[in-house]
Amino acid sequence: MNDSVAPIKVLSVTGAGRSGTTVLASILDGVEGFASAGEVRRLWERGVAEGRPCGCGRPPVDCPVWSGVVARTLETDDAASSGEALQRIISAQHELSRARNRLRLLRSAAGGEAEWAALERVRMALGVACVAFAESTHARVVVDTSKRAEDAAVFAALPDVEHYVLHIVRDPRAVAHSWRRAKAFSAAGSTRTMGTRRLPSTVRRWVENCLGTETLLRYLPRDRSLRVRYEDFSREPRVVVDQILALLGESGEAPFEDDHTVRLGPNHIVAGNPSRFTTGSVTIRADEEWRGRMPRREQLLVEVVTKPLMLRYGYGGSHERRSRPQ
Ligand SMILES: [Zn+2]
Repeated sequence: MNDSVAPIKVLSVTGAGRSGTTVLASILDGVEGFASAGEVRRLWERGVAEGRPCGCGRPPVDCPVWSGVVARTLETDDAASSGEALQRIISAQHELSRARNRLRLLRSAAGGEAEWAALERVRMALGVACVAFAESTHARVVVDTSKRAEDAAVFAALPDVEHYVLHIVRDPRAVAHSWRRAKAFSAAGSTRTMGTRRLPSTVRRWVENCLGTETLLRYLPRDRSLRVRYEDFSREPRVVVDQILALLGESGEAPFEDDHTVRLGPNHIVAGNPSRFTTGSVTIRADEEWRGRMPRREQLLVEVVTKPLMLRYGYGGSHERRSRPQ
């Protein structure tokens, strides 16, 4: 690394799906010096191989930002063709995603693991893509919303990257309820539907995500991470965004019109929640539908499994009434 050039900063956002990570990424994208990349882990399979659209509405290979990033990354691989390079990266990602590799991957955040070829390949691709994305968007800070702690662990060990982790937690009852609803979005000229998940699967993923992030944070310096509750972000989005900027040592202004309304511009967020296609003036408010609509029996099921973590994050305790949004 050249001493005169500051390393790029990467903010890895971890948390369960439907926890507001995409809207947060859209807000941060509007801060001077920031660019939100989206769920970078899904760039290769969903974005490049399957052609799912970027936030600009085009598949990554046709996007003015991602096309160059993808080409540069695939050229770095010594494969005979870009198609082969792409398949190698996707295969390596599949290997890293196996449940039995989870802990090993989290531990790799502290460095090392040079003998693990799949990890080396994914690290290399991520490192090249990240720097190319930052250059293409003129950003100092790249926001990755891959959401799993394992993906943040790969970023953590990249050389020449100043890495930060933002853990967003949301009440698991709200997450489970949200995943039961098929939500349709009209965006980028077509209607897209967000998938649904069964309650046991959502709860398992929520617990895994929390425990994975807690494990990861043990390997990182204390001043490089922040935990934010979705409910607090929804109640005071401007305050929470300022806390995130402070974590990163950045002083830019987020595009708020008032304390709860933000103006979202076009973005190049790859993969993720269809809300990445939303632009214009957006009011941030908590989605608390579960309180009135989720059957009590389902709430109890979630509570039984997640109670220790719920209490740790301030949910479901005797103070719950006070923590409710006004
Ligand atoms: Zn794009």
